[in-house]
Amino acid sequence: MSCAALTIDDATPEVLRVHEALRGRGVGATFFLDAQGLAAVGRDNLRGIAKAHEIGSHTVSHADLTKLPDDRIMEELTNSKRALEEAAGVDVTSFAYPYGKYDERVKGLVKASGYALARTVDEVGAVKEADPMAVPVTITDYSEEADPYGKMARVVKGLVGAGEGAIVLVLHGHRIAKYSAWDKFIYIVDFLINNKIKFILFRELKDCIKLWY
Ligand SMILES: [Zn+2]
Repeated sequence: MSCAALTIDDATPEVLRVHEALRGRGVGATFFLDAQGLAAVGRDNLRGIAKAHEIGSHTVSHADLTKLPDDRIMEELTNSKRALEEAAGVDVTSFAYPYGKYDERVKGLVKASGYALARTVDEVGAVKEADPMAVPVTITDYSEEADPYGKMARVVKGLVGAGEGAIVLVLHGHRIAKYSAWDKFIYIVDFLINNKIKFILFRELKDCIKLWY
């Protein structure tokens, strides 16, 4: 396992603590932000995050896109892209489906909106290949068990040194806070650093895995 992509979902104030934790470790992550939460992050903070990391879109309103008509989906996709690009001062080419919900119709609209890569929350362990509009992940912090970050650490430990592909992690600052798991989050990051795993931004995934075009 040679690459790892940390992806952090949702525009909540806790993303600032994630940014703070990664600062000084030389680790770049991808922050998938819903545009409605930009005020909670703050424009100056967002620009700081964008200097060190990738900014991706997570729609405007964190809607389940599979439940919306085409025109509303296009609004969510294009308005969030524009708002994030203007606020952060960077190009936004990666997308993450809210709740991980997608289907063929939604995938087509994401592609038509100018995104190059879209992330799901489909858990597959090592990510070796992917549909660029439905990239799976290694593990999320969604699980409702008592210790999701301990579980994540065990999965990561099992994959390091286990061959080709990428470790793609899905984290939420507000969930790390809810579980008081900042130490475990840092443990996972430092474990990857100490094992010489290369951190990549989500948009760089093509350097580590095969994408189906
Ligand atoms: Zn989300």
